[in-house]
Amino acid sequence: MYIDTHIHLSTLNHTDLKSVFKDCMVHKLDTLFIPGTSLEDSIVNIKIAHDYNQNILRILPFVGLHPFNANMQILEKLIIAIDNYLLSKSIVIGNEIFSSDINIMGIGEIGLDKRCEIPLNVQIDVLNTQLDWALRLKKPVLIHCVGAHNELIRLLKSRKINPKGIIHAASFYKETAKIYYDLGFKLGLGGICLNHQSKKFGLQ
Ligand SMILES: [Zn+2]
Repeated sequence: MYIDTHIHLSTLNHTDLKSVFKDCMVHKLDTLFIPGTSLEDSIVNIKIAHDYNQNILRILPFVGLHPFNANMQILEKLIIAIDNYLLSKSIVIGNEIFSSDINIMGIGEIGLDKRCEIPLNVQIDVLNTQLDWALRLKKPVLIHCVGAHNELIRLLKSRKINPKGIIHAASFYKETAKIYYDLGFKLGLGGICLNHQSKKFGLQ
């Protein structure tokens, strides 16, 4: 059986979710990591895991702010909401209080992305805070990085301690892969491992 370490489900309706889960069973996936990208979809992830988690298909929610949504004020709200959820096992969704015994698997999707308009220094502050949050909760991270591997590696090396985690959709040279590996990270394989560029990235 296989793990999908990165599948976004928060925008799907019930019919589409059922269809995705059926495909997962056909393709022998038994575990899904569902990343959060915003305050809202991090909370939706908990509800999806609560509603659809089952023994044959484990749906494990992550919570976090994607670099496209990097904002320290929103991150503070997310941290308060999730810390409260972990203590009380209840969280506000819309006008309702939702209760669940679903655990939070980790913090993500967090990271750096040079394609987005948010200044890199803001992204780095938000990422650093989320790495500290993951350490405090003793949870792994899901990291997204586009065009900023030098900055990400510099940040990770500058920290005394990092959480364990996954660098998702690895599409970099094997020398870079080794640095992440030596820092204690695993690599999530994206579509690139299926195309002709895979050898270039040491994925053959
Ligand atoms: Zn993603």
